[in-house]
Amino acid sequence: MKIRHILAATALLMHTATTAQNTNLSHRFKAHIDTLASDEYAGRKPQTKGDTLAVNYIIKELKKIGNIKMMGDDGLQVVTVPIKTRVPITNKKELKARAKAKKPAYNLKDETLHTFNVVARIDAPDSNNPNSEAIIIGAHYDHIGYRKNSKGDSVLVRGADDNASGVAFIIEYARSLSEMKNQLQRDVIFICFGAEEMGLLGSKYYAENPLDSLSKVVTMINFDMTGRMKNNGITIRGLASAYEAPALFSTFANPNDLDLIWEFRAKGPTDYRSFYDQGVPSFSFSTRIHSDYHTERDTIDKINFEGMDILFSYAGGVINHFALSKSRVTYRKSTR
Ligand SMILES: [Zn+2]
Repeated sequence: MKIRHILAATALLMHTATTAQNTNLSHRFKAHIDTLASDEYAGRKPQTKGDTLAVNYIIKELKKIGNIKMMGDDGLQVVTVPIKTRVPITNKKELKARAKAKKPAYNLKDETLHTFNVVARIDAPDSNNPNSEAIIIGAHYDHIGYRKNSKGDSVLVRGADDNASGVAFIIEYARSLSEMKNQLQRDVIFICFGAEEMGLLGSKYYAENPLDSLSKVVTMINFDMTGRMKNNGITIRGLASAYEAPALFSTFANPNDLDLIWEFRAKGPTDYRSFYDQGVPSFSFSTRIHSDYHTERDTIDKINFEGMDILFSYAGGVINHFALSKSRVTYRKSTR
């Protein structure tokens, strides 16, 4: 469904911290993505040095922001999840037998994955937020490391769009909300998730082991692939996660005439789903999938920084709606 709309901005939306083509913001986005998608970070695959480097970078950047409190162990939540890994079969006779029986050429082995979530918060003044309500803003920081290309060569997949771009949003939303601390009506929790690419593992772990009760969380807003805006197009997922969401989302200011696709599915293929599954109305923003998805061509030179500014501003209106007012939406059970 495509919906274009022109709407009056409310006073709240005037707080949106950025405008399109904000050079300072673009510079910061660029610096974050440049680092996270660098050779040294090697595609930020869980249980590699690049994964640890990414976590350390995000913590370092968040700590530069005023009014921020690191949660967990100085910003870290250690994630340990049971996983099954594939052990390839090498015995030729067995391989033959397996092929004949149409069985896979590997055995599954039980292992434990060790990775991290980075978690921080900016609290509203107590007088504004007597019931300690919160919203969560999140993005996964991990990616897939190396993969085999069509020639069989191992190539580095940097994940500039997927999802260094989303992490850049989280850091910069933290910065802009810290400047509005006194106006906050709810606490804001910022999370960068590990191991999304392995099946939303970091977000699922957090949603099942939250560092602050999810019963007080009014909404979760996720960002996954926010750097490749084309023809002003963005997708907003999760509209089916709350009864009022379709009507509410049609009221947000769209001064840049974004071409909005609303995807209703509450159980979509990224981290908002983990929070939806735990009873939280949850949404996710993206500048949509592209032919460089999960390839060595997902690099910083393809990032549309002006588009990032525009989406940051638009989604900032949504965040402000929940962070600077007492507005809430009602969780809706969905089958999809
Ligand atoms: Zn992603």
